[in-house]
Amino acid sequence: RMPLFKGVRLDRIARNLGLGQFVSLRPGDILLRPDEPNSELYILIDGCLAVQADLQSQPIAVLPAGECVGEMSVFEGELPSAFVLATAPSRVFKVHKEVVWRLIDGSNRFAQNLLHVLGKRVRSGNQALASSQERLMMQEISASLDPLTGIYNRRWLNGMFRRGIERAQIDKAPAFLLMIDIDHFKKYNDTHGHLAGDQCLRMVATTMRDKLRPTDLLARFGGEEFSVLLNCAGSRESRAAAERLRQAVEMRQIKDRDGAPLPSVTISVGIAMLKRNDSLESLIERADTALYQAKRQGRNRVVEASAGKQPARALKKG
Ligand code: GH3
Ligand code: MG
Ligand code: MG
Repeated sequence: RMPLFKGVRLDRIARNLGLGQFVSLRPGDILLRPDEPNSELYILIDGCLAVQADLQSQPIAVLPAGECVGEMSVFEGELPSAFVLATAPSRVFKVHKEVVWRLIDGSNRFAQNLLHVLGKRVRSGNQALASSQERLMMQEISASLDPLTGIYNRRWLNGMFRRGIERAQIDKAPAFLLMIDIDHFKKYNDTHGHLAGDQCLRMVATTMRDKLRPTDLLARFGGEEFSVLLNCAGSRESRAAAERLRQAVEMRQIKDRDGAPLPSVTISVGIAMLKRNDSLESLIERADTALYQAKRQGRNRVVEASAGKQPARALKKG
């Protein structure tokens, strides 16, 4: 029943085993704790032990009779990594670490069994680590996504756009920021309802995502506004990309959740070229000014902020 003694000729180790001791535990009795050095190996004869990160938390593992604890701290000479306590009336067989070494010397099979137990511990430790890393990664991803549209959110934009800008400045590579705003969206909501508005936002977001290259960055800036960071060769290319987005949104048929058609919408786009001394904020500000001009000039158009101090330049539609 005891994995540690499987196949071990007990007569060979009887004398050393005789040095061990039986200990009875009541529920709640603590066998190992991370703040106390341990020099015993405990083999659970009957009852149940729980391994816990702290005394309040849920058990990381529950050990049935036959399992052992303490082996890691015995070999490493380090403090135990968790609390181990009895969750039911239990009985353990306590073997001091000197005796453990003698058992290893006295029986190859015992040594093999112990290695097997240690291997299992390391593996389950690695699995716990991998799954907690995976959980962290998933949390990180979901904290960066906008739940409504499924594209990246403002938090992600703040980190990734900033990095993209710094990279372009170091490489002396061109980059362009687009600020995009849906036209007359308040009226759309007022006329068709907020849910239709939500659906429209989703469709505009995915339409734009599908029209961009994988290296371009797209995020929902907030409300009905979106931002794109393009790493283009020149302003002609970036205007073409913006124009492509504008046309794609204009052509996009919007449907409600039941598939019934809703009116389509248009977007206005402001473009600004990254300058050497730009911060994310100053770049956004210039693209915003260009966006404001696009609105003033009648919406559903792309306007590029001029490179110099002149006012933003309008572009023809279509
Ligand atoms: P303009 O052409 O000048 O941009 O006019 P507009 O009506 O689009 O601009 P305004 O800023 O007045 O209105 C934006 C609207 O976007 C108001 C707000 O209710 C709506 N909106 C913002 N976020 C959401 C959202 O998550 N869902 C829905 N349905 N509507 C939203
Ligand atoms: Mg707006
Ligand atoms: Mg708007």
